[in-house]
Amino acid sequence: MKDLIVIGAGAAGMIASASAAREGADVLLLEKNDRVGRKIGITGKGRCNVTNACDEKTYIENVITNPRFMYSAIRKLTPTDVMDLIAQEGVRLKTERGGRVFPESDKAFDIIDALYSYVKKSGVKLLTGKMVKRITRVGRSFEVELTSGESHRTKAVILATGGLSYPTTGSTGDGHRMAKEMGLHVTGLRPALIPLVSPDSFCRDLMGLSLKNVEVRLVDESSDREKLIYADFSEMLFTHFGVSGPVVLSCSSYLASYLRNEKADLSHRKIVLHIDLKSALSTETLDQRIQRDFAKYSARDFQNSLTDLLPRRMIPVIVKLSGIDREKKAGQVSREERQRLVRILKDLPVRITGTRPLQEAIITNGGIDVNEIHPGTMMIRKIPGLFVAGELIDVDCLTGGFNLQTAFATGKAAGIGAASYIQKERNRRMLNVAIDGPGGAGKSSVARQAAEREGLQYVDSGALYRAIGYVLVRKGIDVEDQNTVEEGISAMRLSLFYREDGQHVTVNDEDVTAFLRTPEAGAGASKVAVHGKVRDLVNSVIRETAKIYDVIMDGRDIGTVVLPDANLKLYITATSEERARRRLLEFEAARKPHGDLETVKKEIEERDYRDSHREIAPLKQAEDAVLIDTTTMSLEEVVEEVCGLIQEARK
Ligand code: C5P
Repeated sequence: MKDLIVIGAGAAGMIASASAAREGADVLLLEKNDRVGRKIGITGKGRCNVTNACDEKTYIENVITNPRFMYSAIRKLTPTDVMDLIAQEGVRLKTERGGRVFPESDKAFDIIDALYSYVKKSGVKLLTGKMVKRITRVGRSFEVELTSGESHRTKAVILATGGLSYPTTGSTGDGHRMAKEMGLHVTGLRPALIPLVSPDSFCRDLMGLSLKNVEVRLVDESSDREKLIYADFSEMLFTHFGVSGPVVLSCSSYLASYLRNEKADLSHRKIVLHIDLKSALSTETLDQRIQRDFAKYSARDFQNSLTDLLPRRMIPVIVKLSGIDREKKAGQVSREERQRLVRILKDLPVRITGTRPLQEAIITNGGIDVNEIHPGTMMIRKIPGLFVAGELIDVDCLTGGFNLQTAFATGKAAGIGAASYIQKERNRRMLNVAIDGPGGAGKSSVARQAAEREGLQYVDSGALYRAIGYVLVRKGIDVEDQNTVEEGISAMRLSLFYREDGQHVTVNDEDVTAFLRTPEAGAGASKVAVHGKVRDLVNSVIRETAKIYDVIMDGRDIGTVVLPDANLKLYITATSEERARRRLLEFEAARKPHGDLETVKKEIEERDYRDSHREIAPLKQAEDAVLIDTTTMSLEEVVEEVCGLIQEARK
């Protein structure tokens, strides 16, 4: 069994796995692509804006969704820590405007190489080209199944599969699906840091034109009470579909948050982006400035009088929007017309009807609900041992390196969290409940129900003897002959695993569970169970299981031989007459052919005799076992009593 499996070798998964390994965990990192860090390779237009050289407060201010969730994680790995880590791997960094940190080489691959080398040096085992299909919780551990068919057992899992943006890099939402399958709440997913779509044709006319120093306001004008969604001052760009550029990307993230809080859809809203093209000038100053220009160019057509004021490509658009006759002489433009022009320049409205699709988003808004996650360790509160990191979590930030910083910080928190969880699991002594007693007393029904109620794993040890008996008989081996039996089991691989429908037994990888509930398998079992080598084989399998699960085990020698240190031992019995009656009822209910009461009773007594008179591990009540005679008790009463004893043992 592994300590930890990390799913996804992106920014979060790499830091998570390395951090856990550096704390002593045995880590397997699985990546479905054939290379690690594919999405890192395209961030910052291939330059990789690896973090932002800022303090904690500034970082938090740049988190749009769930900033408070990040308080703890950002202290565990600050931007400075990230820069140090990368620098220690030999990659020189530089800081550009707005604190944006890039590799000096401007090559994102240098960052990927640094992270890869950091991971490798930590002793993480990395497997690429491995896609995870399913994660199932088995007892206190997890079964991670791959699409290739192989599966791994692990104490803990970190899910770090990324968001939904740029699916070509591998971020295809596998993690969201698996999280949902495990019962986690995933919020609605929307694109964030994404260009906005406008039906206004002038955007297309201005395609490719970028504006510096514009002030924008994104407003919801659906009702009379306008709501300001976001206001900022920076650069933007017109495109064939609408608007883009830094300030627009920020707008989109706030828009995603806004719509989410309002539980609204863009198509039912009237959203307008107001652009102040002359933010440095007040309305009055701008008006005076235009008056001067008009005086200077009074003989020119209005359309030729704006050259000092606007970029050339912008002029026809503004002329049209102003509604002023373009051939009117500048000197003739009326005061009212001029004021209309000023208004357009100070407030150019662009209708927003959508965003580009999620695949094109830099980051995903939404993800695993932060209420499900412990912010200090990234552990899922209701599933101990399951951790999450990175974009999968419902946190998103503005551009500037903050999103990668979030991935790194949550990765570190998850890695450290998982390592300490694993340490505790290693030191934890499992709760072991041993039930012995003769066949047919209801041990397995009691154990199954108590397991369900008390959250233990039910282990049916008889099934292992039945499986061995069944396979040997099928091969035509004389199960009473010690030598042939020993030879028959010499290379036998016996194992147990658990599914929703309960325990399964495999012999040499063949699942034989379906063949084990017959009287023949029972008789075969009690015959093979007298051989020491058979008992050794079975005991090694079930002792391993008892080490990793809280178990309730049912057998003949569990309390005496297999788990002599069990926390609770029970000896459940009933008269042979009563056991035969119950067995008959069972057969009838299952419409199985059966002999009369006398015959069944005789079979049971023969088995009792064999089980209690054999030389090795005969059936007997352990000295410290609690005796429960169920002859006159109902199943419910027995279960009730056993659960009470388990609760006592837990204390
Ligand atoms: O519990 P079940 O009736 O399925 O077990 C079948 C047989 O396997 C038992 O009669 C017994 O001979 C053997 N057995 C054993 N020790 C165990 C469990 C089963 O000897 N722990």
